[in-house]
Amino acid sequence: MAAPTQSPTRSPLPVLGGGQGVMAYPLAEPVHRDLCTDCGISRTSDPHRCGTACQFIRPRYAELEAQVHGRSRDPNRPDELHFGPFLRLARARLRSPLPGAQWTGITTRIGERLLEEGLVDAVLATAAHPDDRWRPRPVLVTEAGGMKSCRGMKMGYSPILALLDEVERQGIRRLAVVGIPCQVHALRALQETLELDELRVVGTPCSDNTTTDNFHHFLAKLSDRPDEITYLEFRADYHVEVRFRDGEVREIPFLQLPLSELPQDFFPLTCRSCVDYVNVLSDLTVGYMGGDGDQWLIIRNERGREMVELLGEELALEEPTSRGRRKGAVQSFMKAVQRSADGLPLRKMPSWARPIVGRLMPLLGPAGTEFARTRVEMKAVESIIQLRRHHPRRIKRMIPSHVWDLASPYGLQPEPEERS
Ligand SMILES: Cc1cc2nc3c(=O)[nH]c(=O)nc-3n(C[C@H](O)[C@H](O)[C@H](O)COP(=O)(O)OP(=O)(O)OC[C@H]3O[C@@H](n4cnc5c(N)ncnc54)[C@H](O)[C@@H]3O)c2cc1C
Ligand code: SF4
Ligand code: SF4
Repeated sequence: MAAPTQSPTRSPLPVLGGGQGVMAYPLAEPVHRDLCTDCGISRTSDPHRCGTACQFIRPRYAELEAQVHGRSRDPNRPDELHFGPFLRLARARLRSPLPGAQWTGITTRIGERLLEEGLVDAVLATAAHPDDRWRPRPVLVTEAGGMKSCRGMKMGYSPILALLDEVERQGIRRLAVVGIPCQVHALRALQETLELDELRVVGTPCSDNTTTDNFHHFLAKLSDRPDEITYLEFRADYHVEVRFRDGEVREIPFLQLPLSELPQDFFPLTCRSCVDYVNVLSDLTVGYMGGDGDQWLIIRNERGREMVELLGEELALEEPTSRGRRKGAVQSFMKAVQRSADGLPLRKMPSWARPIVGRLMPLLGPAGTEFARTRVEMKAVESIIQLRRHHPRRIKRMIPSHVWDLASPYGLQPEPEERS
């Protein structure tokens, strides 16, 4: 296997907590496109590739799923309609959680193990800007110790694929990528044109994203000391967990979040119309939403299985749980999306009712795999409603047939002109 042939000659940029073996580079400005999450392709030496790579311009989910996993979704395995092709779903956690990780750090540890075993030359992932813990900064990590600087979620768009030029320039031929679904779609669409001998993809789910500036605005509504927030996560038990620098931890029920005070475009149309929550083109998806309090793995193919096996006894793996029923939750969500798509404000729940409903939701709401199915169906319904409202002509191209299948129990069927 060829080793990297060139060393970087451009001056690398600093990253938060960065050390040896982690490199960030100056990036070109992005080219403006109508629906774009700045995955980085428009900043490369060939920005025209957006036309063939982008999930918003030329989505190719069914074709790429078959290419990556060697098969399509199996109709005899009903969960593949929701989660895409997979070998195994599992609940998982590192027995010794990594400090600073978003959950227990499975993603970071896989990157480290790949580098420790010499299975890849570099990992393309996301660290943080040295002045702002929340601002993503794409990096190439070439030593296991460098993965530490990528721990934890950054909120905002991370143009990781802009570094594909650097991968080529440095002669890196065995690459691992950690990315969210829209990044992974573009990567897979271009995979055959990249000069790589080996590509391994660890994907995380992603339901919503926004700009880092918008996210700071949200933090300022959550707390009167937003600059001291070091961690935030939307947990599967319907709470947002917020941690502060001094060790304080707050758990805020979703229903008490100031969502109705945020501007309508806080979550951009890209994310409201994105059809891939679970990163179906990754080899291994590492999330939390089906994990019932733990992390959640979708092991999709042999490359994914191999990466999980690299963790050996460090990883506790269990069968997933599943409780509750999703239909009512999806129906209520659909009504709220319909209302906001029509330009009406989200209804505020009366403040006396919030604590009661907030306490009941974790008990009555769907959990485990059923929670993950719920969120995937919500996303399907949302993307159809939002595109019908804002970009009706794009529906035919952007909504794949499996998304119509997920939405049909809620009365959403394609009109003749909407069928692909
Ligand atoms: C914007 C966003 C939304 C998400 N939404 C969901 C969700 O709805 N449901 C769910 O189950 N999981 C979601 N995740 C994934 C989840 O937050 C965890 O990252 C995941 O569970 C892995 O946890 P970990 O402890 O293994 O990660 P860690 O070991 O802490 O590693 C985190 C990894 O995330 C990557 N990363 C961090 N920020 C970004 C970013 N802005 N863009 C791209 N990559 C980034 C880094 O490269 C790093 O390798 C989301 C992640 C992001 C970035
Ligand atoms: S491929 Fe990436 S950079 Fe290009 S339009 Fe799509 S999201 Fe934006
Ligand atoms: S919701 Fe979809 S489009 Fe938005 S950032 Fe996440 S993967 Fe990309």
